[in-house]
Amino acid sequence: MIDGKANTSRGGTAGAGESGIPAGAGAGWVKSFEQGNAGMKAELGGKGANLAEMTNAGLPVPPGFTITTEACRAYYACGGMLPDGLMAETESALRELERKQGKTFGDAANPLLVSVRSGSVTSMPGMMDTILNVGLNDETVRGVAAASGNERFAYDCYRRLVQMFGNVVFGIEPIRFEKLLHELKRETGSEHDRDVPAEGWKRLVDRYKALITGECGKPFPQSASEQLRLAVEAVFRSWNNQRAKVYRKVNRIPDEQGTAVNVQAMVFGNKGDDCGTGVVFTRNPSTGEKTLFGEYLTNAQGEDVVAGVRTPLPIAELARQMPDVYASLQRTAERLERHYRDMQDIEFTVEHGKLYLLQTRGGKRSAQAAMKISVDLVEEGLLTREEAIARIEIGHLDQLLHPAIPEGERLDVVATGLPASPGAATGIAVFDADTAEAWARAGRRVILVRAETTPEDIHGVLAAEGVLTSRGGMTSHAAVVARGMGKPCVCGCEEARIDLDAREFRAGDAVIREGEAVSIDGSSGRVIRGEVQLRAADMSAELAKLLEWADGIRTLRVAANADNPADAAKAREFGAEGIGLCRTEHMFLAPDRLPAVREMILAETKREREAALAKLLPMQRSDFEGMFRAMDGLPVTIRLLDPPLHEFLPNADELRQRIAELSAENAAAADVGAAANDRRESLRELEAMLRKVRSLHEANPMLGQRGCRLGVLFPEIYDMQAEAVFLAALTCLREGVAVVPEVMVPLVGHVNELRFLRERIERTAERVLGGEADRCRFKVGTMIEVPRAALTAGQIAECADFFSFGTNDLTQMTYGCSRDDAEGKFLTHYVDHKLLPHNPFQTLDREGVGRLIEWALHQGKAARRELKTGVCGEHGGDPQSIFFCHAAGLDYVSCSPYRIPLARIAAAQARLALGTAPRPGEAEREPAWTAGRDAS
Ligand code: ADP
Ligand code: MG
Ligand code: MG
Repeated sequence: MIDGKANTSRGGTAGAGESGIPAGAGAGWVKSFEQGNAGMKAELGGKGANLAEMTNAGLPVPPGFTITTEACRAYYACGGMLPDGLMAETESALRELERKQGKTFGDAANPLLVSVRSGSVTSMPGMMDTILNVGLNDETVRGVAAASGNERFAYDCYRRLVQMFGNVVFGIEPIRFEKLLHELKRETGSEHDRDVPAEGWKRLVDRYKALITGECGKPFPQSASEQLRLAVEAVFRSWNNQRAKVYRKVNRIPDEQGTAVNVQAMVFGNKGDDCGTGVVFTRNPSTGEKTLFGEYLTNAQGEDVVAGVRTPLPIAELARQMPDVYASLQRTAERLERHYRDMQDIEFTVEHGKLYLLQTRGGKRSAQAAMKISVDLVEEGLLTREEAIARIEIGHLDQLLHPAIPEGERLDVVATGLPASPGAATGIAVFDADTAEAWARAGRRVILVRAETTPEDIHGVLAAEGVLTSRGGMTSHAAVVARGMGKPCVCGCEEARIDLDAREFRAGDAVIREGEAVSIDGSSGRVIRGEVQLRAADMSAELAKLLEWADGIRTLRVAANADNPADAAKAREFGAEGIGLCRTEHMFLAPDRLPAVREMILAETKREREAALAKLLPMQRSDFEGMFRAMDGLPVTIRLLDPPLHEFLPNADELRQRIAELSAENAAAADVGAAANDRRESLRELEAMLRKVRSLHEANPMLGQRGCRLGVLFPEIYDMQAEAVFLAALTCLREGVAVVPEVMVPLVGHVNELRFLRERIERTAERVLGGEADRCRFKVGTMIEVPRAALTAGQIAECADFFSFGTNDLTQMTYGCSRDDAEGKFLTHYVDHKLLPHNPFQTLDREGVGRLIEWALHQGKAARRELKTGVCGEHGGDPQSIFFCHAAGLDYVSCSPYRIPLARIAAAQARLALGTAPRPGEAEREPAWTAGRDAS
């Protein structure tokens, strides 16, 4: 709590529970702001908890109370009915609010007006609904007019209420109201809302009410308490509107949480020119720079700023227009930041020169800004390094190394807007969210171009590479959402004139139609015609610093999956401590090598095969030399050939087609001589290949002759690979490059497979290294990816120096499903319907696959204490899976180069959250899972 004491000076300590609710009814559905604090987010929602925290710190928050998330859950549990006692508690909290404000809800002369605001546990900006000015009706509006001496203001509030109510409670589309508003503005000759006179608003209110009656067959409710009840219910319902559901899914927010409802006395930014409303970030959410950043509008209410009704003024303008307000805003911002020890996103309203705070929350920020802010907060002494690391949103790291536009590129810049979310994106222009989604699903990269995005567009933003809007400021919906998702965004680009009917936008002389290429640079605001080749972004100084801190914390090592020297070099740049997986088949697939590979496969005799392998040997050798040099003394794990051989041959249909074509040509051509001979020759080759393809055909290649099964049947292949490894090692050693080769055998299921292959590898090493064997310390180990290998890990460890858990295959085989088939078909359905908590190919299944790993780890270490263990495969770059790897006591994870920074941070977070990992085998103890530890 801010000052360590509850400040209740405004109205005594009475909250709902203590203020005369009949005994028995006090189920505790309602808490006054004085009763809450920032730690009560689960109960009060983020908004409610922070309003309470600020209230208790004595900050100027209009008083109010919060209906708990539990009430929302109860509402849904009752099948959409308000739980017993809720309205009674609400009424009595309202009485208390009336006392504080000296006004009465629904009173004709001196009415209290309230806002009814949604507020979920995890912030979901703009996804749910809020209604302002509740309590206005045909009578009270006159009371407000009289009390304020401002009739125009009173009816402005009223028309806003009827519109919001019509939309949120009765489900009438906003556009219906907007149309009436435009008509009215035309009639009254008003350019802006603020030009509309009181008479105009009165007329509009009548038309709005008629619209509601016409659409719903019932009138806009005149009873203030009925308004309140309907508003509360509507906010509960908004938890389950489409956009909120999509947002939760994307952000992995549980559907069960429910939203709280905040009922708060209104303050008015629309009472005149010494009033206004705005949003301010305590630091720049795009760059992280420490300056107030935000926007406001004078004489406006609530959502005008975010809704893009008028383009708001930058907050710096407020310093000129209302210097006192600006100064107190600055002081408040500083204070909130120190209190929350984080950058804040604040909503404020100014009523006749007095500042009120309506919301504060941790500000959403770009990945770049997040890194800068974390480092700055540590350097300002507000956070420790550990706290800074623990707070990093892992998703951000994913985005940080997102592409940028290379310097010095010649670009056709057609317009410039606000640089709202950094990074560059290139794709084809689309003008609505549904099309964006459909085209993205068809595999096209799209840029969503909109006048202004609304929360309904969220699926389009999600599908797009980037977003371009012609209206709205840096705090507009598009900007906030894009930053949150790490998508590049340019907004408020007024030069871009969008014509939705023609499905094109014009900027200067340029016309860009739907389906044409466009690029945006969210760091500079540039909009560029055509496609741009993007380059990977550099690591910022801040990120480098955070990574260094993380390295000081983590115990889990991080290696890279890399198959060529360029990736290996990139991996080192990102801090890889070795190569955990080098897939040699990728080297086989290079176009210049494929002929030799095919020759090897088609060979009819061992001699022929060896001849082909001799051609491959120097190629493999030079690959490995490149890897060793790039890793310069760090371990390099080389996996021997894994996939089935048919993958290197053309497919049967293709071959049949070519044979048919060639035979037809042969039949048609009457020629003899060289050309015909050539054709006959290639026909024979194709037919031989087809025979081979047929003979290699497997009903289920995933479970067929691949991995070490191939190596056992054709040991010459692995011999050649091993020879290439040791030859490369020798060359490097002679150059003075330290090498630590680790030869890895894939898909072992039985120890005999490994024993057989290990012996051959050792023999090859002996032969190649000869007298220099002492200088080259190598390891021979295995993938653990067949459940049987995991179960018999104790035996397998006798022949293995290391285990690398191939969690992709291990997951496939443990679940008994192939990833390609599963993801395309049932797996998405399973996750959507919550049969599975997540896709086990993305996040390691702790309860199943994880148990196999833990078992194998303990058996393996018991047999061979110095056994090195790690995970390769995509899970090695997934934060939750990394937590598991740390907890299980594995030595390392290995992931793709671009995920290495992420893995380094996640490993540090795991250490901070879970403490030092157990060292399996060092202390004799049970595997952790048998002690009932659960996934979290
Ligand atoms: P959202 O989650 O969409 O931001 P809010 O509940 O925060 O919804 O409210 C929408 C807008 O109305 C915000 O600009 C907020 O500051 C404003 N607002 C909410 N309650 C009040 C109030 N009691 N007085 C004045 N403005 C309010
Ligand atoms: Mg809203
Ligand atoms: Mg808000």
